[in-house]
Amino acid sequence: MTPTPRQNLLDLDRVGLEAFFTALGEKPFRATQLMKWVYGHGVADFAAMTNISKGLQARLQELAEIRLPEVAADQASDDGSRKWLFRLADGNSIETVFIPEADRGTLCVSSQVGCMLNCSFCSTARQGFNRNLESGEIIAQLWMAARLLGQRADSERVISNVVMMGMGEPLLNYDNVVRAMRLMLDDFGYGLSKRRITLSTAGVVPMIRRLREDCDVSLAVSLHAPNDALRSELVPLNRKYPIRELLDTCREYVGEGRRRVTFEYVMLAGVNDTDRHARELVECLAGVPAKINLIPFNPFPQTCYTRSSNNRIHRFFEILNQAGIVTITRRTRGDDIDAACGQLAGEFHDRTRRRAHSRPAEVTPP
Ligand code: SAH
Repeated sequence: MTPTPRQNLLDLDRVGLEAFFTALGEKPFRATQLMKWVYGHGVADFAAMTNISKGLQARLQELAEIRLPEVAADQASDDGSRKWLFRLADGNSIETVFIPEADRGTLCVSSQVGCMLNCSFCSTARQGFNRNLESGEIIAQLWMAARLLGQRADSERVISNVVMMGMGEPLLNYDNVVRAMRLMLDDFGYGLSKRRITLSTAGVVPMIRRLREDCDVSLAVSLHAPNDALRSELVPLNRKYPIRELLDTCREYVGEGRRRVTFEYVMLAGVNDTDRHARELVECLAGVPAKINLIPFNPFPQTCYTRSSNNRIHRFFEILNQAGIVTITRRTRGDDIDAACGQLAGEFHDRTRRRAHSRPAEVTPP
């Protein structure tokens, strides 16, 4: 008889853990007790959980586990960024990046092994797609980073912000991403506020609507072009959910409050970075509570694009700024270790055989 696989407790949010303990005939408060150990103190060994009886510890050892990835590589950038390659139980690897700044520490988390979206300027796309991450594999990236950065329960948090901007399209792995984000928000999990978690999407419109109902964290949208013709070329998902529909959904997402959607705009020399594009972008975003994040393109082998010059980026920035749109230019961090936006690749077997294609394939999200 094959033994039943042990339940990975990282796959369960608080409600799930309560159900797990109730099924064992235990009181639901065991869930928060366990969460304090695992997420608060970074303890993964049941035997070290001193307020859990020896009997229950033994049952947990038999039935459950805290499944963590292995560190396959750990690189530090000159600017203080860190990038880890984590090897998962099935042999696939994913990347996670930590970006320290004066007033915050941001962890960039992956949601899928690879990506199906095939954006023309992204190196993750080149790698193809293998599978969705389990929610436990998503939250384990925080657990591992906190441990490797020496975060302690009694001191200030090293990881103060999370961006779902690593490998993959988070809204195409909706349930697992939302479950993991619930643990990030939970007081007995990582206790982060909604403002401090940002989910970035290429624009999966129906899922943005659902997210508003389920877990309305800060939203970032990869826009990259001010019109449908160009956007469809750069972000093929645009053929399914064009700009107008996407922006209407963004407006609904933030509602009447003070929140804004961040629009990411990668600066590609001669492609989307002229004065005309900037003015078109201003028009396109009229009436949308928006912030713009200009991202200098990060090159990777065999790309046909180049980064816009600093002068061009500055001029583009000025046009948006003068039109009254809050704009920042994202500093390129970690590029000496290929940890910058669009450079995360991981190591995995491409089930979509993307690498066999020389041209971007049609988008086929589920
Ligand atoms: N799939 C999600 C999450 C990825 S986030 C999304 O599309 O938003 C990563 C961000 O980096 C996105 O805005 C993406 O468009 C951008 N990006 C991808 N490749 C890049 C590159 N080579 N240079 C700069 N930014 C890039």
